[in-house]
Amino acid sequence: MTDTPMPPAGGAAHRFEAGLERRAANYVSLTPVSLLARAAAAFGARVAVIDGERRLTYAALYARCRRLASSLAARGIGRLDTVAILASNIPEMVEAHFAVPMLGAVLNPLNTRLDPATIAFSLRHGGARVLIVEEAHAPLAAKALAAMEARPLVITIGETGIAGALPYEALIEAGDPAHAWAPPDDEWQSLCLLYTSGTTGDPKGAVYSHRGAYLQALGNAVTFGLSGESVYLWTLPMFHCSGWSYPWACVAAGATQVCLRKVEPADIFRLIAEHGVTHLCGAPIVLSMIAHAPAHERRDFPQTVRCAVGGAAPSSTIIRTMEEMGFRITHLYGATESYGPATACLAQPDWAELTDEERYQRMARQGVALATLDGVIVTDPETGEPVPQDGSRIGEIRLRGNTIMKGYLGNPSATEKALAGGWYATGDLAVWHADGAVEIKDRSKDIIISGGENISSLEVEEVLMRHPSVMLAAVVARPDATWGETPCAFLEAKPGSEVPSQETIIAFCRERMARYKVPKTVVFGHLPKTSTGKIQKFVLRDRAREIG
Ligand code: ADP
Repeated sequence: MTDTPMPPAGGAAHRFEAGLERRAANYVSLTPVSLLARAAAAFGARVAVIDGERRLTYAALYARCRRLASSLAARGIGRLDTVAILASNIPEMVEAHFAVPMLGAVLNPLNTRLDPATIAFSLRHGGARVLIVEEAHAPLAAKALAAMEARPLVITIGETGIAGALPYEALIEAGDPAHAWAPPDDEWQSLCLLYTSGTTGDPKGAVYSHRGAYLQALGNAVTFGLSGESVYLWTLPMFHCSGWSYPWACVAAGATQVCLRKVEPADIFRLIAEHGVTHLCGAPIVLSMIAHAPAHERRDFPQTVRCAVGGAAPSSTIIRTMEEMGFRITHLYGATESYGPATACLAQPDWAELTDEERYQRMARQGVALATLDGVIVTDPETGEPVPQDGSRIGEIRLRGNTIMKGYLGNPSATEKALAGGWYATGDLAVWHADGAVEIKDRSKDIIISGGENISSLEVEEVLMRHPSVMLAAVVARPDATWGETPCAFLEAKPGSEVPSQETIIAFCRERMARYKVPKTVVFGHLPKTSTGKIQKFVLRDRAREIG
């Protein structure tokens, strides 16, 4: 950007254009890094990050990020180089979300629960020049690195025992706390690379831009009511969609982030009570762990804690249980491809007239677009046209706006498939209500087709979750000679409750849903979950098939 406005090329411009061109004073590339610079200048002494006994003020956080950036720059890392990180929710993970983009480099947070081969795939595919590894994940990193021909530069947090690695803290110490950085020339520049789970083939690497991350940070802060008084607890893995973009959102709001390495209900309650936590996010499974924590792990706390749930569909039962425990639920829906939250279920004025049960069911809807998203529609899978907002016709959710990924790295065909036609196709099937809210019925691959009728697995799960002995429910298709498929329910019982018989559950369902939707098979046991807390339906589908 030059400081002198350029005269229009060819011909006189309109009076609302001439002399009103963009210039350095009024047009700066958006980047989440500037949020940290501003926070350090505006309230440097405020605590930005808490980790056990450790405290980092905003001034200290900014200085450490600049030190790290300068040390990485000294090792030749710069614009569009990939810096991968394998770490839990620790302060260094927050630092990486600012220090790496400060260099114009691309941060690639890796899922710490993946296998070494997939980590090696991501490092190779993402072209990682640097891998930052936390001590706790050193064995995984070492195995992944052993499978690689060209190793990235390894930086270790704590003792990893990886030969030739540089200690993270030494880089911080040697770095320049006044390191000069500038926003990218173009805010569309890539900032983050996030691999999706890869349950259907090799993982795909969604790429975020500086502009998108900046806007998402603001959208998140506004939607979730974050402010300078907020204390945000890290119950969500930061490697998942960059912690749904909350490292940037918390800094935008000037909130305090409290680190948590492992989702243990006892730690969650303790940290809520000790630090006055006001906000936390999690998949429904995290809420379920909180809601079913044994009495000796619970702690009382005087403040209201806002809890954003997303990543998978929460049942109205879990929303109700959490609200009755004093949490205030915000239901968010989104994907890695949409920087995390794309929609939020906002309360409507007519909810005041609803019964509690009806209200909790409304809260289980995925809702309307965040302020920073341009639009959400539900389209007919055949025609691609929007379905009527009648709450009954099922179509695919499509999203559009500045907080949709740039595309998948090195995968033009998948990018084209995802973004063709002006919208991001989510693969989520939903109905669209008159008040604008979308309500997911299933992921397209999870829908059950029995005797030609579509059955929403979520709808059946929603009913099963109301049974007093059921803690978790997952319904999948089981092949059937007569019907094609029938619903098969896998259930986890509440701790300490007697496991009901198959007949009891079937009778419970019969009273509450159409006959064809009632599960024909019911299996109690432990449900397999992904590292991000989603139930692995593909594993259950295999099990259902094996039942014979
Ligand atoms: P993965 O494919 O590994 O699950 P994501 O974490 O990007 O990757 O998951 C995004 C998907 O998660 C969405 O497309 C949707 O199917 C599901 N999802 C996310 N939030 C919700 C929600 N609030 N309700 C229902 N489904 C959700």
